[in-house]
Amino acid sequence: MPEGDTVWNTARVLDRALAGSVIRHSDFRVPALATVDLAKWRVRGCVSRGKHLLLRLSGPGDGQLATLHSHLRMDGAWRVFGPGEPWRGRPAHEIRVVLRTLTTVAVGYHLHDLALVPTEQEQTLVGHLGPDLLGSPDEVGGWDPDEAVRRLRARPERTIAEALLDQRNLAGIGNLYKAEVLFLRGIHPRTPVGDVADLEAVVELAHKLLMANRGRWTQATTGSVRRGEESYVYGRAGAPCRRCGTLIERDSVGERVTFWCPSCQPARAPQQAATAA
Ligand SMILES: [Zn+2]
Repeated sequence: MPEGDTVWNTARVLDRALAGSVIRHSDFRVPALATVDLAKWRVRGCVSRGKHLLLRLSGPGDGQLATLHSHLRMDGAWRVFGPGEPWRGRPAHEIRVVLRTLTTVAVGYHLHDLALVPTEQEQTLVGHLGPDLLGSPDEVGGWDPDEAVRRLRARPERTIAEALLDQRNLAGIGNLYKAEVLFLRGIHPRTPVGDVADLEAVVELAHKLLMANRGRWTQATTGSVRRGEESYVYGRAGAPCRRCGTLIERDSVGERVTFWCPSCQPARAPQQAATAA
């Protein structure tokens, strides 16, 4: 499932394969962009903003700067192939766009929110996002833990599980990292944000986990990338907790399913928590 680290990796693959190259042929297979032709446009580079991909282009005319936006959601992907190489892995009917340069064919599968906008209007697509967990602190929208905490605190009644998934609070976390961060901090997913004692530590850990997974395709929070050992609670309903042996639970919080250990992440009121130790 694409989370911020996967999208960051995808941006890096596209950037390395396409940056500096001129597009020879483009083929959009979505109705809204069916007539768009990017031939002779040059790829300036590709970056991620949270879970959004921004492929930046310059046109053959003076001062033409455009951005091709895409979002992977649950099932989207970009793949890069050599010119004569077969397009493996995904069925052709999922193709939404093909970009060809002299040396590379980039194929976008099942992309969402595909849009071409003037680069100066990128903010209309990503301006709502909270600080990007994988964004450079020097960039607009880059990582800013204080701002992330401020945004989370603005709605103290919300469950922490829902608040962490809201990309307007901080951008890049998906369901896996949400569940794992809450386990590692011992926080029940239904805890209201206002009752989370150390939000700074939650935000810091989310940042650390995504940074650690940047640059690899297997997502792991346990220190092991071996199959079946990658997570503490995510995807492990009914299996014993790796720390205490209690069976991991699974339920929906808000619109999304989540996983937790009822012993390591007890549901309790904050005043009880204070006396329980
Ligand atoms: Zn446990």
